[in-house]
Amino acid sequence: MKTNNERGCALCDATWGGYYREIENEKMFFCCNICADIFENMVNVVKKETGWDHIDSVELHGNYSLGRNCTATSGENTFKYYFRAYSDGRIMEFKRL
Ligand SMILES: [Zn+2]
Repeated sequence: MKTNNERGCALCDATWGGYYREIENEKMFFCCNICADIFENMVNVVKKETGWDHIDSVELHGNYSLGRNCTATSGENTFKYYFRAYSDGRIMEFKRL
């Protein structure tokens, strides 16, 4: 899965750390396990909301405290949403845009 954070962590783009987790059968880079938890939970909610069986890309804008406006794609389909997470990785708020 591609994200717009190409240099660093798939969620927050930080280049420190070095935590890998397999998400959707692909080894992805994160700065820490919390970012990996948040990303994984987000992917699960997007798949549940859309009914998609896979996600090709996610573009994320925002940060931890404000939340993130995102656009996910799967083939020809696009899904826009906003989400915020708790510091333990659980999703606090999720809404379609
Ligand atoms: Zn991160």
